[in-house]
Amino acid sequence: MPGQQCYIIFSDLDGTLLSHDGYSWEDAIPALEALRKRDIPLILCSSKTKSEIVLYRQRLGNGHPFISENGGGIFIPIGYRGFRLCYDVIQDGYWVISLGMDYPGLVKALGEIRERTGLKIRGFCDMRDEEVAMLTGLGLEEAGLARKRQYDEPFLVEGEADGLREAVEAMGLECTKGGRFFHLMGNVDKGAATRRLAEIYRENSPGVDVITVGVGDSLNDLPMLEAVDTAILVKRPDGEYDQRVVVEGLIRTEAIGPKGWNDALLGLVT
Ligand SMILES: [Mg+2]
Repeated sequence: MPGQQCYIIFSDLDGTLLSHDGYSWEDAIPALEALRKRDIPLILCSSKTKSEIVLYRQRLGNGHPFISENGGGIFIPIGYRGFRLCYDVIQDGYWVISLGMDYPGLVKALGEIRERTGLKIRGFCDMRDEEVAMLTGLGLEEAGLARKRQYDEPFLVEGEADGLREAVEAMGLECTKGGRFFHLMGNVDKGAATRRLAEIYRENSPGVDVITVGVGDSLNDLPMLEAVDTAILVKRPDGEYDQRVVVEGLIRTEAIGPKGWNDALLGLVT
């Protein structure tokens, strides 16, 4: 008798499940419903903070684990599906696995990178909620949540970012670029966190064939897409795909953002 199969979906938020402008997931509702009906875990895996993702989990009615700040932290609701696992700390009702460097260390490192390169760098730590709101299109309250960093510092560079990568590497840190910002973080990415969480599902689901699916739109999603069995790249608002994302067997959606997300996942699970 063939073993039971189950899907787990790892999904980026900005530009993927949420539209690039307006942060709306309306076009993805049919697929979200289909996942819910089948009890398929939807793991939000974003550069957003825990505080921001918690808000989207509430809005989406999502009760599953999630990955914050580009793989810096894995958050699993305490008692989730009777899982047994090793975690680092308990925080606000979650078992937390910390993979990233702590935030004060990152802020200090960004200052050193600014000095070494002479680049005009502005991090979230240098901005007020109002400026983050203006730059991101977020409301003021959400901008405040976005500034509650734990593992990753978003920043802007005025002009060319010459020498940035070298300076980041010299400090043993990582830098990636999402839709709007560069992100400075410890030696983490969405891929390591995705693998770790998929492993936790597998260890806690004996006899079940766990199939992982990843959906993203940008370079910072590449490690996540490399870590899953089925990788989906959604089209960008300009009608193009991020050319830097190359994965074997990559599925490219016909439609843009959440509509592409919807069509690809509906096709997969129904
Ligand atoms: Mg994105």
